[in-house]
Amino acid sequence: MNIDFLELNKKITNCNKCSRLVKFRNKVSLEKRKKNINEVYWGKPVAGFGDVNGKILILGLAPAAHGGTRTGRAFTGDKSGDFLFKCLFSAKISNQPFSKNVDDGLKLNSTYITNILKCVPPGDKPHLNELNNCSKFFYNEISKLKNLKVIIPLGKVAFENCIKFYKKNYKVNKKIIFKHGKKYTLPDKKILIPSYHPSPRNVNTKLINLKMMKNLFIKAKQLT
Ligand code: SF4
Repeated sequence: MNIDFLELNKKITNCNKCSRLVKFRNKVSLEKRKKNINEVYWGKPVAGFGDVNGKILILGLAPAAHGGTRTGRAFTGDKSGDFLFKCLFSAKISNQPFSKNVDDGLKLNSTYITNILKCVPPGDKPHLNELNNCSKFFYNEISKLKNLKVIIPLGKVAFENCIKFYKKNYKVNKKIIFKHGKKYTLPDKKILIPSYHPSPRNVNTKLINLKMMKNLFIKAKQLT
């Protein structure tokens, strides 16, 4: 990781700007989940990880209470991460089909993963002021990813906040709507491919499956 990202990630990790979220992440980390009762939770904002020279950005909404907030890495140690990494591995974007903890040997191929919001919100529902507070970190990440070509927001909220960034910084003429797998060319020539979130609900209701997600990630790789 280069110095720019190290500094940015340090700022993210030390941030206490949203009082409701600081309170919630502390509560989650103290109360813990029964099966992780003997673990020390990370309990801080969760920065992005992966290849900072990568061409693909995968963008989630926020760390999970007992996933990223516990392990300190996005999509790590929770059910969404379990499914996501099966798909990324099958598309040869990750070196292994699981993401359990920061010492599990996970490596990403030309890909960076982060969340729009760096702290877990109660009920997975962030407030607008929290999304606005945290947007500066996402804007910084996206501008530091110099080789970035394809952005894959996972879920509608991540998608909408990514579009917000583009509307703020560029003239966006065409209508861009959330549609799984649809390809859009953004004003800076990057490609946007919205995807459904890899949540257990979306998997259990068969809105998504491994083949669909694998194909989307392969399509993204072919565009880099
Ligand atoms: S959500 Fe973002 S801005 Fe708010 S406290 Fe966490 S890191 Fe800071």
